[in-house]
Amino acid sequence: MKTVLITGASRGIGAAIAERFAEGGYHTYITCARDTQSLYALQEKISTTYNTPCTAIPCDVSDYTAVEKMFQNLPPLDVLINNAGISYFGLLSDMSVEDWHKVMDTNLNACFYTAKLAIPAMVRAKSGRILNISSVWGNAGSSLETAYSASKGGLNALTKALAKELAPSNIQVNALAPGLIDTAMNACLSEEDMSALKAEIPADRPGSPKEVADLAWQVVHAPAYMTGQIIAIDGGWL
Ligand code: NAP
Repeated sequence: MKTVLITGASRGIGAAIAERFAEGGYHTYITCARDTQSLYALQEKISTTYNTPCTAIPCDVSDYTAVEKMFQNLPPLDVLINNAGISYFGLLSDMSVEDWHKVMDTNLNACFYTAKLAIPAMVRAKSGRILNISSVWGNAGSSLETAYSASKGGLNALTKALAKELAPSNIQVNALAPGLIDTAMNACLSEEDMSALKAEIPADRPGSPKEVADLAWQVVHAPAYMTGQIIAIDGGWL
């Protein structure tokens, strides 16, 4: 049975990706740092609904020591999906150095940690897929989300460079760049902010986590010649 690790799967896009891969017959390994109750509830839901094994391993992926410990409990992975992420809204000049590092550690450094530990087994198998969940802001940049944009821009560059490094080993590395997706990450937006954003989006609505999960499945199962790509899913927005 194929194996996939999905980081940040207690809710939102990560939880939807976990369900999609469970539906596709994978043994899903799911992780999150804080809301372990929801993580275990998803483990239970997947095991009963899709009749495939699901293993919840709480882990703060921004902490390398914790990630190393998690990998001691993982089998060789067929697929790694780096989805865990946090946002930060505010002027860069008001941002604390601590908050900057938190965004970078979670959105960018964590993807290095998991990839570093997943790659050796993939190289031995001469097969593997890494999918990073980036953002449209990684390319376009967003006012009041400079650290977030920088972390996702870094993740885009990591994706393209690592794809070149791993192509000779038949390991494909791609990223998704979602636009506005209806998850808790946007819960801080007021109704007015949401309406203003929707007005800018040609599709006239936010995307759903399920739509991102369906694309994640398709990209992971795309022909092996596709690698190093940043694929937008944004309703025609940017
Ligand atoms: P979300 O609903 O806030 O979920 C984020 C997930 O990441 C949660 O499961 C959270 O779990 C986990 N997480 C956060 N920090 C973590 C850490 N240090 N270690 C392990 N897990 C951690 O957000 P979402 O919208 O689903 O976002 C998922 C990804 O899509 C993120 O990378 C985000 O940047 C990207 N994205 C989202 C949108 C959007 O509009 N929603 C747009 C573009 C890109 P705990 O809090 O329980 O630890």
